[in-house]
Amino acid sequence: MINDVDVAIAGAGPTGLLLAGDLARAGVRCVVLERRAERSGLTRAFAVQARTLEQLDARGVADQLVATGIPVPELRLFGDAVLSLSRLPSRFPYVLVTPQYETERVLEERATLLGAEIRYGSEVTGFQSHPDAVEVQVRPPDGPTRTLRASWLVGADGMHSSVREVVGMPFPGEAVVRSVMLADVRLAETPPDVLTVNAVGGTFCLIAPFGDGWYRVIAWDRYNQPPESTPVSLEEVSEVTRQVHGTDFGMHDPRWMSRFHSEERQVPRYRAGRVLLAGDAAHVHSPAGGQGMNTSIQDAANLGWKLAATVHGWAPAGLLDTYHAERHPVGRQVLRGSGALLRIGLTGPAPITNARNLLMTLATRIPFAAGAAADAVSGIGISYPAPRNAHPLTGKRAADVPLADSRRLYEALRDGKFVLVADTPVPAGVTDGYDDRVVAVSAAAPTGKLTLIRPDAYIGWAADAGPDSNAGQASAWQQATADEEAMAGHATEIRDALARWCGVPARPAAAPY
Ligand SMILES: Cc1cc2nc3c(=O)[nH]c(=O)nc-3n(C[C@H](O)[C@H](O)[C@H](O)COP(=O)(O)OP(=O)(O)OC[C@H]3O[C@@H](n4cnc5c(N)ncnc54)[C@H](O)[C@@H]3O)c2cc1C
Repeated sequence: MINDVDVAIAGAGPTGLLLAGDLARAGVRCVVLERRAERSGLTRAFAVQARTLEQLDARGVADQLVATGIPVPELRLFGDAVLSLSRLPSRFPYVLVTPQYETERVLEERATLLGAEIRYGSEVTGFQSHPDAVEVQVRPPDGPTRTLRASWLVGADGMHSSVREVVGMPFPGEAVVRSVMLADVRLAETPPDVLTVNAVGGTFCLIAPFGDGWYRVIAWDRYNQPPESTPVSLEEVSEVTRQVHGTDFGMHDPRWMSRFHSEERQVPRYRAGRVLLAGDAAHVHSPAGGQGMNTSIQDAANLGWKLAATVHGWAPAGLLDTYHAERHPVGRQVLRGSGALLRIGLTGPAPITNARNLLMTLATRIPFAAGAAADAVSGIGISYPAPRNAHPLTGKRAADVPLADSRRLYEALRDGKFVLVADTPVPAGVTDGYDDRVVAVSAAAPTGKLTLIRPDAYIGWAADAGPDSNAGQASAWQQATADEEAMAGHATEIRDALARWCGVPARPAAAPY
C-alpha cells in the first residue's frame, strides 16, 4: 500500500517546524499536524542561543531572525556576576532576545517555502504502528476523524505529547518549582540591562523585553505559592519585582498573566520503531538558562537529515539510531545544568544568597570557568561521541570557515548535504556516486585538516591534511604538489568515511581516485 506521506509530524512548535523544513529541503513528503487553529501569538522562550543561531545560519534564516531581536553579549546572573558571551568563537557571540513567535514565524515561512504542508486544526488523537507504516488518526475541528498513512511519525507535540502517551513511552521525573508567575506588562522605566535577573532571599525575578514595548516578567516567591488555578494579580508580580530589583520599573497594563510549574523529565528512548520523539515531547526542564527551545531545535537539526536519508534508502545501518545515542545525553545534560542553575538561583536565606553571589562572581572572573560556562549556555560546547581512535575533531561542532569560492562553510551547508572541506581541490573521483549527498569545497586559507562535515554542522570524520609545515622553505609549486600528493594519499580514508556516513554510493567510483 502506498503511504500518503513519508513523514507525519505532530506539532507546529519550533521543533516540528525546523524538522519539516529540513525534510522538505531533502525532498521528503511531509505534513505537520497542528492542533491549534492558527499560528500561536504567545511566547514562552525568548532566548535564542549561539548554537541555535548557527543552525539557522546553516539554513539561511539566522540573519532574518537576528533582525527581530536584541543581541545580548553579557548575561548578568546574580549579584555582580556577569557571564560574557562576547568571546564565543561564533558569528553570533551573544544570546538573541526575541519572542518565540518570531522564531516560529521564520521557521514556518521557511518550511512552507520549501514545500512542507502545515495543517492547522488537525489534532493527532491516536495511531497504530505497522511494519511498513504508521496509521495516524487526525481530528479536524469539525467533522469526523481521518486516518493518514505515513512511513514515519515524529511526536513534536510538546510537553503533554499525545504521541508519547500512545506509544507508551514513560516520562519519568518530577515538578521542581511551583507557582511561578508569568506576566506580560508595560514598564514606565527601562531596566538597566536587557535581561534583568536576580534572586534575593527566596524570591526570583527575570525581566526580558519583547522589543515592541512589552516586557515578560517571570517572578517566584518561595514563601507565597498559591495553587496554580489561582489568578495572578499585578500587585503580586510587582511586589516580588520590588523585593528582587528594588523597583517594579513602573509596571502597568498587564495583557496576560499566568502561573505555571516547572518539571524535569526525560523519556528513556527517543525512538520506538517508526515513531520518534523530539523537543519538549522528549525532555522538559526548568526555563533557567533558556535551553528548552534551543535543545528542541537542535534535536530536530540532528534528526532531519538522518530521517531523510532513511526515507531515501541510503542511510547506513544504524544511522537513525544515532539520533537517540547523540541527543539523549545532550538532553540529560541540559536537565542537570538547568536544574542546578535553578537550585542555585532559588537559594533561600540572605547569608546563603550572599555566599552564592560571591561564588558566582568569582567563577565568572576565572577565564577557564567562565569560558566553559559560556560554551555550555550557548550550546557551542555540544559535541557527540566519536569512535575509539578517531581524530580528536570527530564529533565536535564545525567552526565556520571562509571557503575558496568566497562563501562561508555555513553557507555551503544550506543545501542540506555533507560538505567535504580540504585545503586543496579533492581529486576527481573521490566523491563519485555521492553527488546527491556530498559537496567538496576548498578552504580559503590552509587549515591543515581534511574534514567531512555532516548536514547538522558536526564533524563526521577528520584527518590531518599532511605535510604543510615546510611552507617556509618550499616553493609554492612544491608546496602545492606536496598537498596534492597528501590529498591523494587520503582518498581511501575519505571513501571509507563516506561509506560510513553516506551509505552505498549511487554508482561505483571510477577507481583509482
Ligand atoms: C516560561 C517559560 C520560559 C521559557 N523560556 C525559554 C527560553 O528562553 N529559551 C528556550 O530555549 N526555551 C524556553 N522555554 C521552553 C520552550 O518554550 C520549549 O522548550 C519549546 O517551546 C519546545 O518546542 P516544541 O516544538 O518541542 O514544543 P511546543 O512549543 O510545546 O510545541 C508543540 C506543538 O504541538 C501542538 N500539539 C500538542 N498536542 C498536539 C496533538 N495531539 N496534535 C497536534 N498538535 C499538537 C501544540 O499546539 C504546539 O503547537 C521556556 C518555557 C517556559 C514555560
